[in-house]
Amino acid sequence: MTGLVLLAPGLPDSLLTPLRASGLNLQTLKGAPSPEQAEATTAYVVFGGSPASADLVDALPNLKIIAVHGVGYDGVDVAHARSRGVVVTNTPDVLTEDVADLALALTLNTLRALPAAEHHLRSGRWGAGERAPLTRRASGRRYGVLGLGRIGAAIARRLEPLGGSIAYHSRRPVEGVAYAYHDSPESLAEAVDVLIIATPGGAATEKLVNAQVLAALGPDGVLINIARGGVVDEEALISALIEDRLFGAGLDVFAHEPSVPQALLDHPRCVLTPHVGSATVETRAAMAGLVVENLLAVLSGAPAITPVSA
Ligand code: NAP
Repeated sequence: MTGLVLLAPGLPDSLLTPLRASGLNLQTLKGAPSPEQAEATTAYVVFGGSPASADLVDALPNLKIIAVHGVGYDGVDVAHARSRGVVVTNTPDVLTEDVADLALALTLNTLRALPAAEHHLRSGRWGAGERAPLTRRASGRRYGVLGLGRIGAAIARRLEPLGGSIAYHSRRPVEGVAYAYHDSPESLAEAVDVLIIATPGGAATEKLVNAQVLAALGPDGVLINIARGGVVDEEALISALIEDRLFGAGLDVFAHEPSVPQALLDHPRCVLTPHVGSATVETRAAMAGLVVENLLAVLSGAPAITPVSA
């Protein structure tokens, strides 16, 4: 008997379908768990970044695993879960290339203002003889990656053929990497034209990209964020964009998703996507497969396939 697998509300069909096919006993959590649910629950499944609080862990005495559908587990109190003997798993590696693709796409779209150019054409302004505004070159620029982990490194690999320079900041230099290392986000921002964020979210990186970092990036600078919205001081970003102290931003993540500030929606040099870094058919299938494998392993008493190490 594997007990009850509680599902956070709103999980996508790409995950629900393989979960239903797994033979596990599933129920969606609505509000607080009932006493019967709490007693029976051995697993909890959440979408990456969604909350799985210490209170919830405490309410589920037989919980063995929190399976996160995503690589970022900033919504889970991992230390507390561990203290209660609960394994937390995520889905690393399988989504790296897709998220890096999106970061490159946002970079090119922001520098070359492709959504605005397309709107110019579709709205008939080109046909009426009006030229689209000039944009910014992508090749030969100075790129900075904030967080040179799995995704950050895959982004850097994609930037290499553009023929510019690549620098990075993580909390410590990465061994064997030839890119220039900067010991702070501000120093990195000062040295580059395009700053691409690929750190985890959570308390440790909250507003890591603040007004000072944006000022260091400067009025020709571009900010790309595929990490978590909370890593950027969104108010400071909006001010910098509105006051032309930053050229543009390409954002897949926002501070209070799914709400997106009107100022960003209205800004002509922002390219915005609805947190779709890993949202391809292939990657979502691989992520769902890993969630199911982790559940089946832990619930049968075997070690998790991809436990988080933090
Ligand atoms: P990872 O391999 O753990 O890489 C994270 C990198 O960030 C590491 O290089 C780490 O290096 C650095 N880092 C951590 N804390 C830092 C800090 N306080 N200051 C500076 N650098 C810091 O993780 P990943 O697989 O590349 O994923 C990165 C993140 O991308 C995830 O956590 C998630 O939030 C986000 N993500 C977004 C999407 C999307 O749909 N947009 C999809 C997947 C993932 P050090 O530890 O040496 O500092």
